[in-house]
Amino acid sequence: MKSRYAEVTAEVVEALGQIVGRDGVSTQRDEVEKYACDEMPMPKPHPAEVVVKPRDASSVARVLGFANDRRIPVTPRGSGTGVCGGCVPVYGGILLSLERMNAVLEVDEANLVATVEPGVTLGQLYDEVGKHGLYYPLYPGESTASIGGNVATNAGGMNAVKHGVTRHRVLGLDAVLASGRTISVGGKFVKSSSGYDLTQLLVGSEGTLAVITRVMLRLSTPPGRREVLLVPFSSLDNAIEAVPDIMRQGVTPTGIEFMEQDIISIVEQYLDWEMPLHGYEAFLMIILEGETEEETCAAAARIEEACVRNGAVGSYVPASEGAKRRLLEARERFYPAVKRLGPLELADVVVPRSSIPDFVKGARRLCSQLGLPVLAYGHAGDGNVHLHFMQKDMDRKEWQERLPKVLDSVYRLGWSLGGLVSGEHGLGFDKKGYLAMTADGEVMELMRAIKRAFDPNNILNPGKVLDLE
Ligand SMILES: Cc1cc2nc3c(=O)[nH]c(=O)nc-3n(C[C@H](O)[C@H](O)[C@H](O)COP(=O)(O)OP(=O)(O)OC[C@H]3O[C@@H](n4cnc5c(N)ncnc54)[C@H](O)[C@@H]3O)c2cc1C
Repeated sequence: MKSRYAEVTAEVVEALGQIVGRDGVSTQRDEVEKYACDEMPMPKPHPAEVVVKPRDASSVARVLGFANDRRIPVTPRGSGTGVCGGCVPVYGGILLSLERMNAVLEVDEANLVATVEPGVTLGQLYDEVGKHGLYYPLYPGESTASIGGNVATNAGGMNAVKHGVTRHRVLGLDAVLASGRTISVGGKFVKSSSGYDLTQLLVGSEGTLAVITRVMLRLSTPPGRREVLLVPFSSLDNAIEAVPDIMRQGVTPTGIEFMEQDIISIVEQYLDWEMPLHGYEAFLMIILEGETEEETCAAAARIEEACVRNGAVGSYVPASEGAKRRLLEARERFYPAVKRLGPLELADVVVPRSSIPDFVKGARRLCSQLGLPVLAYGHAGDGNVHLHFMQKDMDRKEWQERLPKVLDSVYRLGWSLGGLVSGEHGLGFDKKGYLAMTADGEVMELMRAIKRAFDPNNILNPGKVLDLE
């Protein structure tokens, strides 16, 4: 397969240096290895032949035009926090890091739009828009992630119930095609019925259709108040069954997360900190935003009542801002806490939210049939379940043999319940094999046709999302 692509020779490196400047090109082993993995637990690294760090969109265009002429694969990369190998150069070639394109170009207070380069991190965006008294309401878990990466994966996170996912915030994009030509799509407006929506096609395309070089994001004004409720239940069924009732209370929570006692114990050890409630099988963590204390407290009371009606055995509402922050931080640290425990594989299935108990119970059953330890938690408000299949004390070879069987059955189960392979992480190279399970032949062919139209030579992030043959 690799032989379809040209090698990166000394002459290629020299030419790339002329485009982006010598300080933006490296073939040094330590540098190349730094970009050979992302946050996915990976059996082996996949180094590129050369790392290239452009400073502007015109350099990106020249790099792509050059790579396309030479048939050299190009893998775009933001901050490398992805969890399915999306930014990992499986065919070598050029690793195109967008990290030096990291300027917030404009915060337009009149139109509530931030225009940013792709390497701007989420944390940087929050700070910059905050200086203007504005708010970017999404929180896809990791604040060092880049906006380019968030757009390319259509990142979701905890606040999706009220504020949607990244695609609901992207108004317009500049992007460079594989040919090196640049397109500008969308703009500073919230509606458009003007032909095919290429902005939204590029959102979630995981660097396989174009390299995003500028993003226009819709902003909001910050909420006056935020509350966090931790609500214990005696079973996951009860917890999840409360969710439809919560959603009918006339207040849309910002986020509704579910977790079971096992993951809570793991994060407590990781943070060396005790969660405020113990001894219950399952919990909902509900995030609420409102304008005033009165409004938010009234909403919290209605939601607590709905939870109690559905079997909640109490609730905890942190009194101080610090205590709220700690609860949210504990939730944010689930993945690093679990990752520390040793080899694991993760799934990010999305199902209709009422199917979460059936999905989690079914997945646990499948895992126990094969003796595979599994942890489950996720976004109850939007049906997105994160499963971690652990190796623990199992022999590595045995674990690796059993994993594909479990994964196949778990994705089939998700599909049978009306779900899809990934709710927010994307497919990368890790999960691309499961796409055809949930998309019929006609849909797969349309997707391939779109890929060919954007990238006829298959140089952009090959080996990700889908294979062309
Ligand atoms: C602790 C932790 C918590 C997380 N929590 C969440 C969560 O709650 N929700 C969630 O959705 N994700 C979460 N993630 C996953 C990850 O943060 C997101 O997938 C994020 O969007 C990746 O951004 P990145 O800049 O790191 O992208 P990378 O990992 O660098 O790349 C991801 C993909 O985007 C492509 N890409 C990057 N930049 C560009 C560009 N400019 N143009 C075209 N393609 C590009 C890459 O080729 C790749 O396919 C979490 C990760 C960690 C480690």
